[in-house]
Amino acid sequence: MSGNPYPLGLRLAGRRVVVVGGGAVATRRVPALLDAGALVFLVAPELTPALRAHVDAGRLHWAPRRFAPDDLDGAWLVHVAIDDPLAAASVSAAAAERRIFCVRADDRAAATAWTPAVTRHGPVTVAVLGGGDPRRAMAVRDAVRALLEVREGALTTPGTPSGTGPGRVALVGAGPGDPELITVKGWRLLTEADVVVADRLVPGLLLDELRADVELVDASKIPYGPSRAQEEINRILVDRALAGKFVVRLKGGDPYVFGRGGEELLACAAAGVPVTVVPGVTSSIAAPAAAGVPVTHRGVAHEFTVVSGHVAPDSPASLVRWDALAGLRGTLVVLMGLKNLAAITATLLAHGKPARTPAAVVQEATTGAQRVLRSTLGAVAADVAAVGLRPPAVVVLGDVVDALAGAGPAGIPGSGSGSTGQG
Ligand code: SAH
Repeated sequence: MSGNPYPLGLRLAGRRVVVVGGGAVATRRVPALLDAGALVFLVAPELTPALRAHVDAGRLHWAPRRFAPDDLDGAWLVHVAIDDPLAAASVSAAAAERRIFCVRADDRAAATAWTPAVTRHGPVTVAVLGGGDPRRAMAVRDAVRALLEVREGALTTPGTPSGTGPGRVALVGAGPGDPELITVKGWRLLTEADVVVADRLVPGLLLDELRADVELVDASKIPYGPSRAQEEINRILVDRALAGKFVVRLKGGDPYVFGRGGEELLACAAAGVPVTVVPGVTSSIAAPAAAGVPVTHRGVAHEFTVVSGHVAPDSPASLVRWDALAGLRGTLVVLMGLKNLAAITATLLAHGKPARTPAAVVQEATTGAQRVLRSTLGAVAADVAAVGLRPPAVVVLGDVVDALAGAGPAGIPGSGSGSTGQG
């Protein structure tokens, strides 16, 4: 076939697309078709487990047999994902007869359509054809993706230049500390922001990479006490959004885990400002993981409970039933617990939690400054004081602390792994 390929974006929503074959190639092709809203009709005697899961979930129709030419009746596109050249050629012939474009995994030259290498960035799709060499297409796609990840601000939705039209707010979880632990979506929104309102616990490196014209509001520098400061943050979010800006409220970990994200959402909603929430990797799970502690483990813990320790157990303001927590077998994760750690552990002990319960404390998890202390419920408060651990830190109590002991270096790759005594 000669001539350059003619690029198109096919709008497949509600349109029949036939996939012939149920193996690895079909498994890779089907998700993008489903994402496009296509009515996928899969013809194959057998399926991979992943394809079977799509069938079981009712996402596509499966004909458990070999291809028959009239499978293509009413179709807009066909993907041939089988190795048998004769069978594939018969699909091609049936497609040509019906003037249906036919993608051939087995034979590019025989195909009437080629699938590009793709990278998606919000509303933008970049598709690359490699002139017959799929590896070249992928290499170019990877280069474009890398470029776009750095300069994504340039892709802000056209037609809504900042400062005009209605603004909006995104509450974005920044993850626990390692800048690579933000989500792909969170990162994209961050690169699109006009205004970023960041917490103290937000990884500094994420902010380093913002465009120079982005207004950065450091929420931890707002004077006044905590409740006035929160009102002030709410006011900044609403004011900037009403002025037409896209405001990213960047919060440590997950926005809804002790992050006051709900209050900010309510404040925006009250002012009629649209809000998107992007969940984040929470330190309550990531900090234990970074220290080699899984919050659940088969045969060890079937539950984990996350609790804030910022209010002392005997305070009338406490909303936590420490007595009940003492009776749980599973994992207990305490955030903001260092200041009250002696009172918390004493309360758990008093209500019968065994003093030998394994404990770990992880300070500044997933950063280069990470410190890990291993101890027991009975000794952890004194040990923390002795080695001088400081907030932010997560305390994890339960048998899971020892579940992976002896497995060698553990933790989240790329994170710091400085360790503090107490084997
Ligand atoms: N929304 C956050 C938690 C905010 S409360 C999240 O989902 O992670 C703040 C507390 O989180 C800190 O006092 C500390 O207990 C914990 N924390 C946050 N980041 C941490 C980190 N990198 N290492 C250890 N603890 C962390």
